[in-house]
Amino acid sequence: MAVLEQTSSQKAIDLENKYGAHNYHPLPVVLSRGEGVYVWDVEGKKYYDFLSAYSAVNQGHCHPKIVNAMTSQAQKLTLTSRAFYNDMLGKYEKYATEYFGFDKLLPMNTGAEAVETALKICRRWAYQVKGISENDAQIIVCENNFHGRTTTIISFSNDPVARKNFGPYTQGFVKIEYDNLTALEVALESNKNIAGFLVEPIQGEAGVYVPSEGYLRAAKTLCEKYNVLFIADEVQTGIARTGKLLAVDYENITPDILILGKALSGGAYPVSAVLANDAIMNVITPGSHGSTFGGNPIAAAVAMAALEVVQEEKLAEKAYVLGELFRKKLNEYIETSSIANLVRGKGLLNAIVINDTEESDTAWNICLRLRDNGLLAKPTHGNIIRFAPPLVMTEAQLLDCVSIIIKTLKEFEK
Ligand SMILES: *Cc1c(COP(=O)(O)O)cnc(C)c1O
Repeated sequence: MAVLEQTSSQKAIDLENKYGAHNYHPLPVVLSRGEGVYVWDVEGKKYYDFLSAYSAVNQGHCHPKIVNAMTSQAQKLTLTSRAFYNDMLGKYEKYATEYFGFDKLLPMNTGAEAVETALKICRRWAYQVKGISENDAQIIVCENNFHGRTTTIISFSNDPVARKNFGPYTQGFVKIEYDNLTALEVALESNKNIAGFLVEPIQGEAGVYVPSEGYLRAAKTLCEKYNVLFIADEVQTGIARTGKLLAVDYENITPDILILGKALSGGAYPVSAVLANDAIMNVITPGSHGSTFGGNPIAAAVAMAALEVVQEEKLAEKAYVLGELFRKKLNEYIETSSIANLVRGKGLLNAIVINDTEESDTAWNICLRLRDNGLLAKPTHGNIIRFAPPLVMTEAQLLDCVSIIIKTLKEFEK
């Protein structure tokens, strides 16, 4: 009988398949523990985590300082709702606004909620400050964007899988090509009802597309010229991931509205936020927006600890240096590789493009083999594999990972 008994991994997978909605297609590996850059499966095999929960675990798994902030706050007070004040939210708001250089913060829980919040703020600003007539405001978005999964957000996605049969769609969005300043200027010039420009500083989900140098700065200047809010979705690129605290820091610009999520909590707890200055944020008045859990005391304690870790452990600087090393090593290999075409990215947000069609399962099979070789990564779109380890990695660990990746890719060379 023993030989017929399923592994615990297979049991866990079977349970999800039978009782869970099939809204993901996970790599077959069942994790039960994490520490720093490592995760372990239920059979005890150890892996390097090279996804970091889509860049939510920048500070590493179960960071003691973040876990401690969470557990001590959990024993004191967890939730009051915003019907009453709590003694943590104001402290966190002061800390985070000073940290990022804005007047005010609006606390939410998930990335998609923060994006929705930013869109609502932008629309209100359009009517109450800019003077656009009611219901006419338009927001410019980019092709191949990823901003989350709500009905409004998927309304302006152009991923057919994310959209199909979820209509009718929310109106009020104009889509332009990413990294195309002419398209932005044409859209701004031809339509006096534009209120905002929502953009990812690097398109993460689309496959880590890094725009041309100077694009974001010039786009910000154009937005100023047309009195349009520049809204940066840094849910994935923010909090040191790309080698700076924010990806927009590479171009020395300050967005009018900044959207944060994911690593704002070090992966410990859902925390997201929208930051803006008073002239914009003051359009939000009591009753006009809210969230039962947004700004709860645990979230406040966890986010403060998560941001402190980024500073204390110089994670932006680390991501910058390790990212340069990672791309250098992979570029050396790619020069003579028949399976990998290129590596691109900034800091520790990188991707390689596999030399096969988007429809092929080569990237998936490479990820299965990487798993067997002790490293977890996932394809984004077809033939692209994203590499985004926790930022607390050492140089020796990174070099170890580079050799696992290269060894695995070599197994697929023709
Ligand atoms: C992940 C992500 C979101 C959505 O965050 P959720 O917490 O999954 O809702 C929004 N924008 C970007 C750029 C993201 O990467």
